Amino acid sequence: MGNDRTDGFVFCDSKMKYLSIYLSFFLGSYLWPFSVSADTPAKRPTTLIGLYPTGKSAPENPISPRLVFDYLSDPITRLGNEKVRFFVNSVQLKDWKLSWGLMDEQGNRVPMEKLEEMLSRNRPFRLYGSALYDGSLFKKPLEAWKNKSPSSAPPEGVFLSRTQQENLRPELLPMPAVGVSVKPTLPGTSFFTRWFRSPPRRFSAGDSNRPTNVVMILVDTLRADHTPPYGHPFVVAPHIDLLASLGWVFTRSYGASSSTRPSVGSIFTGLQPAAHGAVRHATQAAWLHLGVPLLAQAFQKAGFSTAGISSNAQITGQFGFDGGFQAYECPVWEKAVTPRAIRQLQTLSEPFFLYLHYNAPHAPYEPPPEWRGLYDHLTPSPEEDRYCAEITTDDRRIGLVLKELAKQGLLDRTLIWLVSDHGEEFWEHGWNGHGAKVFEETVRTVSIVADPLHLPMGVRCDQPVTHVDIFPTLTEWFGWKKPRYVQGISWLPILQGRETTEAAHRPLFLHHGGGLGPGAHESDKEAVLLDNQKLIWWTQKNEWELYDLHLDPGEKQNQWRPGLEIQPLESLLKKHLEECRIIGMEYTLPNEAGKSVELRPAEIENLKAGGYLQGK
Ligand SMILES: [Zn+2]
Repeated sequence: MGNDRTDGFVFCDSKMKYLSIYLSFFLGSYLWPFSVSADTPAKRPTTLIGLYPTGKSAPENPISPRLVFDYLSDPITRLGNEKVRFFVNSVQLKDWKLSWGLMDEQGNRVPMEKLEEMLSRNRPFRLYGSALYDGSLFKKPLEAWKNKSPSSAPPEGVFLSRTQQENLRPELLPMPAVGVSVKPTLPGTSFFTRWFRSPPRRFSAGDSNRPTNVVMILVDTLRADHTPPYGHPFVVAPHIDLLASLGWVFTRSYGASSSTRPSVGSIFTGLQPAAHGAVRHATQAAWLHLGVPLLAQAFQKAGFSTAGISSNAQITGQFGFDGGFQAYECPVWEKAVTPRAIRQLQTLSEPFFLYLHYNAPHAPYEPPPEWRGLYDHLTPSPEEDRYCAEITTDDRRIGLVLKELAKQGLLDRTLIWLVSDHGEEFWEHGWNGHGAKVFEETVRTVSIVADPLHLPMGVRCDQPVTHVDIFPTLTEWFGWKKPRYVQGISWLPILQGRETTEAAHRPLFLHHGGGLGPGAHESDKEAVLLDNQKLIWWTQKNEWELYDLHLDPGEKQNQWRPGLEIQPLESLLKKHLEECRIIGMEYTLPNEAGKSVELRPAEIENLKAGGYLQGK
């Protein structure tokens, strides 16, 4: 199955596993099976200690300007008589060298070996950390510039500005630990926020009744292979890397489509676009069927507080995406998503489900001024350079959300799911963009699940997974009843390390719905991917494409010829579409007939800015 567990934790044996699953259902929705197992607590972290940046960056020396950032935790105390353990090497960031140490009350650095001695004095202490950027960002621009224009001066932006250097800093270093407790400070929480917030529920480290909150962060148009955990050589994204280090990276994650509305619809419903109804992204005539059960509704029904914030107007309430959210803000400005998310984290009562949707790095690629020029001349095109800079921008926003989770003491009881809705093409098939084809560059997505107190850390899983799996996975995770129709599978067996033939060799389906009107469009496509074979059907033209991803990963050689035997892929695809049709009919309510979505001015402006509507 390709799981490559690097944390070295030992799982409970299978008998304990089943016992723990049983207990978890018995105890209700707050517990994850593994948290009940009897033989693992000593080997698993029970808390995450946040270390926050302190002071400014310091270039190590002016000739080789490697950046060094310092970090410090809040005061730490021993928890009862438990043996204290820090998981020092479990967090690793690509291009960064991390080091850790102890600090006494007077601010003196103390070697890690002195831990027991310090604990015996029963005084609070702190952890300090340091992060040294050792990546290629300083070296490559010069090489790229030399190759491109040896006679001219270095283009502006080749060297990082002071602000850019400062902004590269990881916002948080978490240290997994056992047997300690840390008192989070709450700077920035105003008196009024505290006064009006729901009664805080605070749980100590190791408390098995801690709730599990869920924060789902969707980064629009984030192409998986442009992030460090998926192998990009130089894009700096320490917080995405941090989540990968704390959790599971699904290396073969597929979107349901290559456009926002159909894909997010599949995340929210566990259904393929042809079943949930939001089949097109550029029309006002495609929405989630009014009868479809939604993910946020499942959370709400289970007693979670629910909130959603999105800067992409494709997923407004108008199109049916706000169901189950007690608070849903869409569209908001891109730069408003993080401050609003932080406000929600300060006020939401637990347990909660928070959905964040960042529209960048969606076109037009316009990184904020402080990030412009970060990767100039490093990729084959200026568009891709700016796209990469937007990824680093988003990464910092994600970092601020993670930091707030830590500061609120929520990091160790929150499952974080980072996902993208689709990728982006940079002329691999003659075009720049997404939402028209179903080739790998636009349908491969990021999917990283982090909950280090309940799941092993640093796992890379190469099982093929898809958007429609997210709903059933969360449903089984919390022990809820599944909706009547779900077209994905739960990843629970995968997360438990059980190999399943069903998961490894199942067909995945991909969709594209084009056009501005309500009906079919000549560019409409449906595709099936089974193992390495991808069959694409142009449904209106009745044309076919067939690719072998193993022999032809760039999908350049269409193997389809008239008379070519394409069963059983063709019958899998047609059976699937018939299933979608039946589910879609089931969930279509009578009051949908003649429905037309009326866009509000803010939505029109947002959609125009994203290139969805004519006029830009
Ligand atoms: Zn999108």
